[in-house]
Amino acid sequence: MIVISYNKNMTEPAERKKIYHKRLKSGLCPRCGGKVKKSSPYKTCDDCREFYRNYQSENSDAVQETRRERYELRKKKNLCPRCGVSVGKNSKTTLCSKCLKKQYNYNSGVKKPKKAKRK
Ligand SMILES: [Zn+2]
Ligand SMILES: [Zn+2]
Repeated sequence: MIVISYNKNMTEPAERKKIYHKRLKSGLCPRCGGKVKKSSPYKTCDDCREFYRNYQSENSDAVQETRRERYELRKKKNLCPRCGVSVGKNSKTTLCSKCLKKQYNYNSGVKKPKKAKRK
């Protein structure tokens, strides 16, 4: 489990901006704080770029339609709708833990996924 120590009380937009620039200065991915290859011409890491690309391509109608079908199909089979990995019948979340983490990293840059409530 990865514990991000500075995520407490650091979710204000101003703080987030600080984190963003701090990461940028250190040559880290400003979005998730992960390492970016030195040879990479991009500021963000491969993971975040791929995630963002997927995220953006969902905006096209045709792609969206196909994706929705695939999403439903995967969901029915207890697969992660994003990457197709098996999530397990007892999983409280739709996405697999990896995609869930990406999602949260993407949304906030700092937040960790909330633990699912037990019934
Ligand atoms: Zn990243
Ligand atoms: Zn997944």
